[in-house]
Amino acid sequence: MNNLAERDQAVIWHPFTQMQTAPLPISIVRGEGSVLYGADGREYLDMISSWWVNLHGHAQPYIAQRVSEQLKTLEHVIFAGFTHPTAVELAERLVTILPQNQAKIFYSDNGSTAVEVALKMAFQYWHNLSKPRRKVIAFENAYHGDTFGAMAVGGRSAFTAPFVPFLFDVEYLPVPIAGQEEIVLERAATLFTDEVAAFIAEPLVQGAGGMVMYEPEVLDKLFQLAKKQGSLVIADEVMTGFGRTGRLFASHYLQEKPDLMCLSKGLTGGTMALGVTTCTQAIYDAFLSDNKFKTLFHGHSFTANPLACTAALASMDLLLSDETQANIQRITQQHTAFADQLATYSTIETIRQRGTLLAFDLKAGEQTSYFNNIRDTAYNFLLERNVLMRPLGNVLYLMPPYCTTNEQLAYVYQQIIYLAQTI
Ligand SMILES: *Cc1c(COP(=O)(O)O)cnc(C)c1O
Repeated sequence: MNNLAERDQAVIWHPFTQMQTAPLPISIVRGEGSVLYGADGREYLDMISSWWVNLHGHAQPYIAQRVSEQLKTLEHVIFAGFTHPTAVELAERLVTILPQNQAKIFYSDNGSTAVEVALKMAFQYWHNLSKPRRKVIAFENAYHGDTFGAMAVGGRSAFTAPFVPFLFDVEYLPVPIAGQEEIVLERAATLFTDEVAAFIAEPLVQGAGGMVMYEPEVLDKLFQLAKKQGSLVIADEVMTGFGRTGRLFASHYLQEKPDLMCLSKGLTGGTMALGVTTCTQAIYDAFLSDNKFKTLFHGHSFTANPLACTAALASMDLLLSDETQANIQRITQQHTAFADQLATYSTIETIRQRGTLLAFDLKAGEQTSYFNNIRDTAYNFLLERNVLMRPLGNVLYLMPPYCTTNEQLAYVYQQIIYLAQTI
């Protein structure tokens, strides 16, 4: 068993994978820019930024250099009772680019833990104020991660079915997509009461729920309804953060500001696992007390890992550079022009875009009569043409690293056109 995929199959259980029917995994041995190199010499254009984490391309030299220096300086240290320069610098810099009301940074390890921490902060905030509130409002079809609290605030689906008895109750609002705004606002007017502890949303784009997009104006109104009742608003920007939507954060499209924010994925440019939950001064203050029981009792062994913080600092340098900002605008414009072209195909529906994110639905033609097949058909069609995309059901989307060139985009767009002509 020299073949990597076979060795993998002997000992590894993969995420979101039915191990009985899944084909052998593709072995990737190297990455550079937007290209992944297979063990067999094949190249793949990574148009999903490796599960939405990569911002500046693979094995990015500047990030690699910074992390390797940090590795020789301080690889890790306990973060209770101790601190270190990279954690402080990252927190200082995050506060300057986040919505102005975000005052404090709490570190964890990934997007799901960032959401868990936000929920625990929200529940304990009310507990500490001796005004317990239990209700949480979330969007239907939301995805906030795979740990229990994060699952609880996500939409119920086949993915959560075995766990439903163990998930706390949440009230759901339909997503205010175009045309549904008034209905959602009416529903919200009855749902938002003074019993609501928190409202959690993926601002402007629901990722795993199918790249469902909606406008900032209606989210502002929902935030207002929540805030009128004193409820806390949580913006889960795990996917939308760090330039994806064309601005640094999707929350920057809003007039209202969230009370808590969840960040991960692009935070380290896709280099290391790191999560961040941010909050307002008022939330932080509700935990200050001579009473030890008002402490936020939450932490992880690798909280604020210096290597991950360094990767995040290096990624932020790159993100804020003129070059990357220009690339984000360039990709946005390329996507817009391609969207016009795509609109002429009858097999493509509901084309939607927010910044560097372009999504559309595939409509099964005569060749592919089963809805379920269309996902695998599209995935394999593109993969055979060296394009890595990972449809969500019949939803296809592009989320490229910001270093992706126009030539690479043009190649990918052309393969999508072939797909549209084929299905
Ligand atoms: C991916 C994602 C999460 C979970 O992040 P993990 O790092 O995979 O645990 C949470 N919220 C949103 C919006 C996400 O896209």
